[in-house]
Amino acid sequence: MRPNPPRPPVDDRALLLKRTPYGESSLVVHALTAGHGRVELIAKGAHRLKSRFSGVLDWFDSLSLDWTPPRGDADARTEAARVSGLGTLRTGDVDIRRRFVTGSLETYRAAHTAIELTELSTRAGFADPDLFALLESTLDEFNAVGRALGMADAESAQSLLAPLPLRLARFELRLLACLGLQPALSVCAACGGPAPAAGHPEGAPRAPFSPEAGGRLCARHAGEAHAAGRRVGTLPIDVLDGAHGLIDPGNASLTKGQLLGLVEERPEFGERILDFTGRFLDHQLETRPKSHAEFLGAPDRNSRAKLSPSA
Ligand SMILES: [Zn+2]
Repeated sequence: MRPNPPRPPVDDRALLLKRTPYGESSLVVHALTAGHGRVELIAKGAHRLKSRFSGVLDWFDSLSLDWTPPRGDADARTEAARVSGLGTLRTGDVDIRRRFVTGSLETYRAAHTAIELTELSTRAGFADPDLFALLESTLDEFNAVGRALGMADAESAQSLLAPLPLRLARFELRLLACLGLQPALSVCAACGGPAPAAGHPEGAPRAPFSPEAGGRLCARHAGEAHAAGRRVGTLPIDVLDGAHGLIDPGNASLTKGQLLGLVEERPEFGERILDFTGRFLDHQLETRPKSHAEFLGAPDRNSRAKLSPSA
């Protein structure tokens, strides 16, 4: 087979998703671009002392990249074919530096999780400007929190950190929406009708929920999903309402202000919402990102045993 002819260089705005050292001094980078989807590029000599890429290919920054597209196939099986499937980075500039993201472990972890989830849920060649805008605005948010934390006293640091799980959960819900995988949170995923709490007198009210069936379910469709062999559990109504409030504040029963108030009072409520979105996303992606492993390695914060002392 003859190699394809060289293609003209392209440039675009980009956010780094993954960096892997390659050979003596090069880097392979995965980047999400605004107009070209995810691209996989080799930055030759990026590790050399006087590289033109030094200080450019950092996490969390908005970049302008200029590259020559690959001649080959990025999904090729052999290493040699795969490298020929990489574009070649020609120049890079930093448009927006977000150095405050690394100002606290919490903002760093949240931003890293957002990036890893984006890497896992995208493949080369499919452009989604909404996804790029989502990741960029999320990194802006974490950078702003990191900046504010740098100037905060202990008490105001606490009120900056308490909503952080909610911010990450909102990113995860919006990512799911970009992927067309948003769960039904307020109505039945099957019929669109009401999906009230199932009858469990003890503990917090809970509604039937099945990731495999698309989310919250009414009693009838929970029964049908179960009969069809799908796993159906239950989730606390307040967690579903909280998640709904994050993604669709205009139509949710919890307003943004109420949600923030709840999280300020009980920080674990934000963690319960993030536990839900994280597990749902893991289920949809069929993998658990490393950055999720520690948080979701803990027992499910929304399981009945955890919430109900009588269970
Ligand atoms: Zn239904």
